[in-house]
Amino acid sequence: MESKKSKGIDRREFIGISAKGAAGISLASLSALSGCSDGETAKTVFGACYHDCPDRCSWSVTTVNNKVRDFQATKNNPYTAGKLCNKMVSFPDDVTFHPDRILSPLKRSGPKGSGEFVKISWEQAISEVADKLKVIIEQKGGEAILPYSFGGNQGMVQGEAISSRFFAHIGASQLERTICGDAAVEGILATNGQTTGVLPEDIIHSRYIILWGTNPVLSNQHLWPFIQEAKNNGATIVTVDPFQSKTSEESDWHIQPRPGTDTALALGLMHVILAENLQDQEYIDNYTLGIAQLKEHVQKYDPQTVAQITGLEKETIIAFAKAYATASPSLIRVLIGMEHQVNGASAFRAVAMLPALTGAWRHFGGGLMHMTYELFGEALNWESINLPAALANPKTRSINMVELGKALNNKELNPSIDALFVYNSNPAVTTPNQNLVRKGLERNDLLTIVSEHFLTDTARYADYIFPATTVLENWDILDSWGTAYLNINEPAIEPIGESKPNSELFRLLASEMGFKEAYFYQSDIYIVKKTLDSNHEYMKGISFKSLRKKGGKKLNLPEKWMPHAEGNFKTSSGKCHFYDPDLAQAVPDYIPFQYSAEEIKQYPLHLLTIKTPENFLNSSHANVDHLLEKEGKFYLEVNPKDAALRQITDGDELKVFNQRGRVFITARISNKVQQGVVCMPQGFWPSLLKGGSSANALTNHLLTDMGRGAAIQEVKVEIEKV
Ligand code: SF4
Repeated sequence: MESKKSKGIDRREFIGISAKGAAGISLASLSALSGCSDGETAKTVFGACYHDCPDRCSWSVTTVNNKVRDFQATKNNPYTAGKLCNKMVSFPDDVTFHPDRILSPLKRSGPKGSGEFVKISWEQAISEVADKLKVIIEQKGGEAILPYSFGGNQGMVQGEAISSRFFAHIGASQLERTICGDAAVEGILATNGQTTGVLPEDIIHSRYIILWGTNPVLSNQHLWPFIQEAKNNGATIVTVDPFQSKTSEESDWHIQPRPGTDTALALGLMHVILAENLQDQEYIDNYTLGIAQLKEHVQKYDPQTVAQITGLEKETIIAFAKAYATASPSLIRVLIGMEHQVNGASAFRAVAMLPALTGAWRHFGGGLMHMTYELFGEALNWESINLPAALANPKTRSINMVELGKALNNKELNPSIDALFVYNSNPAVTTPNQNLVRKGLERNDLLTIVSEHFLTDTARYADYIFPATTVLENWDILDSWGTAYLNINEPAIEPIGESKPNSELFRLLASEMGFKEAYFYQSDIYIVKKTLDSNHEYMKGISFKSLRKKGGKKLNLPEKWMPHAEGNFKTSSGKCHFYDPDLAQAVPDYIPFQYSAEEIKQYPLHLLTIKTPENFLNSSHANVDHLLEKEGKFYLEVNPKDAALRQITDGDELKVFNQRGRVFITARISNKVQQGVVCMPQGFWPSLLKGGSSANALTNHLLTDMGRGAAIQEVKVEIEKV
C-alpha cells in the first residue's frame, strides 16, 4: 500500500515549512513576565525530556531574548509534575549554554582520538562528508557505511525520522538497535503478546508490589511516590535485585539472588504456587495455554534446587511464592535490569507467566507493569515517521550494535565498514568491549562522523563533528515507553552558535548528494503535525494545538485500564503462553553462561555494571563538573569477605581486570553485594578516569537468548590493590 508520505506531497511545501522552521517560527504562547525590561518579551513553550528514561517528564521553558529564565516540570502532566530529576534540573546551564558545547562543525587535525580539531564551515563540512560518502558508495557500496544511534535523544524527529531515510536511501548497513530493552520485550511478547500491562499511576491500587530488577528510587523517580502511596494504603513492597539498591533499602523485603538466576527463581515460584494449589485455575482454564507442560517443566525447579542456583534460602523461596500468590491485587514491576544476561529474555518470559498463573490480571492494580510504547504504536500516525514505502524493506545486511567492536575490526566483513556515522550515541562509553570498540575507532581507514553537543569519548575519534541542537532548540514529538503521556517539544530558543538539528544535518547531506526525493525535505514541524494527525480513539482531545497550549497529555484510555482481566493476550492464540513449541525452548529454562574453568580460576568475581549514578543518564551529563562532583568517587562495591581475602580496605585504589581490559577505581567495602560479586557504576567517561577505561572495558559483546540484546552482566573479573 502506498504511504501518505509518498503520495506526491509538494516538495515546495516542505521546503517552505522547513525554511520557516529554520527561521524559528514563533507560534509560542507569549506572556509578559514581570521582571522583563522594556522591549523584552517573554515566551513560554512546552517540551519534554528526551532521555532514555521511563518517566518522560513534561516541562515548560520561559525565555526572554533567547535566554532561559525558567525551566521546570509542568503541572499539566500530573505524573511528572513537581520536579525534574537531579540530572536535568539545571539542563539549560549544564548542556545548552555549557561553555564546552561544540558550536560549529569541526574537522580532525591531529591523530585519531587526540581530540585535536579545527573549525570549518557547514558548507565545507557537508561538501567534504558528502564527497567521501559518495566515494565509499561508488567503490564499496552503501553497506560499507554504518549508522550508529540509540537513546541519546528519544525525540521521534531528531531520532530517526530523516536519518533513517538517508541511510535506507544510500543502502547503508542496517543497525540492530537492540542494546537495551529488546531482550525484555521479546521475553514478555513470547508470553503475553504485548508488553503494555498495568499503567504506572494504577500501582496505587496494588497491595503486593514486586520490583524485580528495577530501582525506581533512582531510575524511575516519578513512579516512586505512587509506590509510596500504595504502601501507605497497605501494600507490601518487595525488591528482587542482586544489588542492595536504594529501592531495596526502602522496601519491606529485599530478596537478593545471585546475578543471572532470575529465570530459576521465577520457575521456582511457579513450582511452589502449583504445589500449594495457589493458582487461579479458572483464569488458567479460560485464558492460558500450556499449563500441563508448565506443571511438568517446573517439577525440576523445586525450592531446594532453586536455592542452590540462586543462593537464597529454600524457606525464602517458599515464603515469597506464598505471599505473592495469596495477596491481591499483586503487581510485578519489571524494567530492563534482568535482561542483560545470556538467559535474559527467558527470565522475562518466565516472570511474565506469574500474573496469569495467579489470576492477578483480574484485579485493578494487579498484573505486570513493563513498557507502554505499544499504546503510542496504536495512537499515532506512524506513516509520517516510518520509512516511506519506497525504502520500507531494505535488503541490506544488519549489524548488531552490541557487536560494534567486533564489526569494526572484522577483516572478513565484505564490504568492511569504511564509514561510521554516530548520532544520539556515545559508543566509546556505552558499548560493550570498550577496548575493541576503541581499536576500531582508531582505524585510519575508517571515516567517522559524529553529531554531538560535546567532545565525547566517541567524538574524540571523529574525522568530522557536526554541532547538534539540544532539545531546547528544536521541534520534536516524544512518545513514552514508561507512561501514557504524549508530548510535543517546541523550540524555546533559536539554535545556539551554528548548531543544527540532526534532521537538518541529514537534509543538507541529502541535498548535497543530489537526492531529489520529497521525503528528505519534510520539515520537522510538518512531521510533528502529521504524526499527530490520527483519528485513533486514544488521541481524542489531543492535537498539535492542545499540546502546544498545555504540554504533555495522557492518551485517552479507558478509566480502568485492565488489558488482561479477561484474557485478550496478543499472542497467536489470544491466550497467555506458558508453552510455545515454536520457540527454541518450549518452556523457558534456566541456562547459565558457561565460563571455562580457567576463566573462573583467573577471574573469580562476578562483575555487575549497573545504573547507580544519581547525576548521569547513561553517559549523558557525565562531563558536567558539578554533577561529577556531586556523584563523588568512581567506586567499586566489594563485599567485606572478598576484600579481606585480598587485604583490601575501604578507600584503597584498585585495579579491576579480566582478559578484555582493566579499570582503576576506588574500593568501597559494603554488604550491598554478596560475596563473589562486585559492582561498578555505568556512565563515567573513560577519558575522565585514571587509566582511561570505564566499566565497558570489562564487558563482552555477548548476545541474549532472544532479542539479540546485550548480555553485559556476564562478566568475570579479579581485583587487586594498586
Ligand atoms: S531523566 Fe527522567 S526523571 Fe529526569 S527529567 Fe528526564 S524524564 Fe524526568
